[in-house]
Amino acid sequence: MIWTGDSPPHVPVSELSTDTVINVITNMTITVQSLFPNLQVFPALGNHDYWPQDQLPTVTSKVYKAVASLWKPWLDEEALGTLRKGGFYSQKVPTNPSLRIVSLNTNLYYGPNAVTQNKTDPANQFEWLDDTLSSSRQNEEKVYIIAHVPVGYLPYSVSTTAVRECYNEKLIDIFRRHSDVIAGQFYGHTHRDSIMVLSDRKGSPVSSLFVAPAVTPVKSVSQKQTNNPGIRLFQYDPRDYKLLDMLQFYLNLTEANLKGRSNWLLEYILTQTYGVEDLQPGSLYGLAKQFALLGSKQFIKYYNYFYVSYDSSAICDETCKPFQICAIMNLDQISYTDCLKQYYIKQNH
Ligand SMILES: [Zn+2]
Repeated sequence: MIWTGDSPPHVPVSELSTDTVINVITNMTITVQSLFPNLQVFPALGNHDYWPQDQLPTVTSKVYKAVASLWKPWLDEEALGTLRKGGFYSQKVPTNPSLRIVSLNTNLYYGPNAVTQNKTDPANQFEWLDDTLSSSRQNEEKVYIIAHVPVGYLPYSVSTTAVRECYNEKLIDIFRRHSDVIAGQFYGHTHRDSIMVLSDRKGSPVSSLFVAPAVTPVKSVSQKQTNNPGIRLFQYDPRDYKLLDMLQFYLNLTEANLKGRSNWLLEYILTQTYGVEDLQPGSLYGLAKQFALLGSKQFIKYYNYFYVSYDSSAICDETCKPFQICAIMNLDQISYTDCLKQYYIKQNH
């Protein structure tokens, strides 16, 4: 199981403390362990898994030490060592000997993190990531990247990367250079269901990225929409770890509140709902090109799933759509800016 972080409630800093944050993560860990005693879990730290929120440090801390001790049943000594020092780790999947999980602490790159301001390589994570992926290539392993704050551009925002732009460029460069080793990327943080396709510098799709919606709904005062709770199941080929499909489950929270009980349902199966072959970069790239077409029915579906079927009447008009499409297909500054330009040229001619 991949657990992409952010256990504590999103409340003002003054309402929490380091001890409360550790208690909440402890509760979550114990709950998962008691429900799934034999399941291997790979957690990643979120920007709320710290106090004060977002300020995850580049050196060891009480929280890093606490999670290293809590997650001992799941992680090996080497993984616990880097987790304790910098909040990140890598570990082979016990049941799949040539698959490695790399759990990044992308909170170090998050804009509101004042600790890492002006640092070129916070906690030396870039160097570690580069080395880890190189040795995976040598050892003929495949890697799934997991982290809380995603790379790329926020699909609901205007030209805004999820992490600081300079760090985004560095991550994209590393992911491009190692795209032959990386078999999938899994993120959280936005509470929205979205996909991204990383292309190489020549524009060929090389990596599939998935942002999972959250179990908790979130909305800002300026937003009309929020999300239903969601969890997902991925299917992969056990021979080469290629991603084959994704089953998204959800809870209609409005209905659950009215009835006083929860009824989790299958929301969609990715290949079936969109008529694509698998989750490979080429397949998702083709899908994204369909989304981009004027009046695309595929995109209307995607936009409904974006909020985990919270409000099927929500529409993404011609001012909203370019940001969605360009965020799916362009993860670096040059190609993203180019994408938006193309949209404006098309609209004005
Ligand atoms: Zn978050």
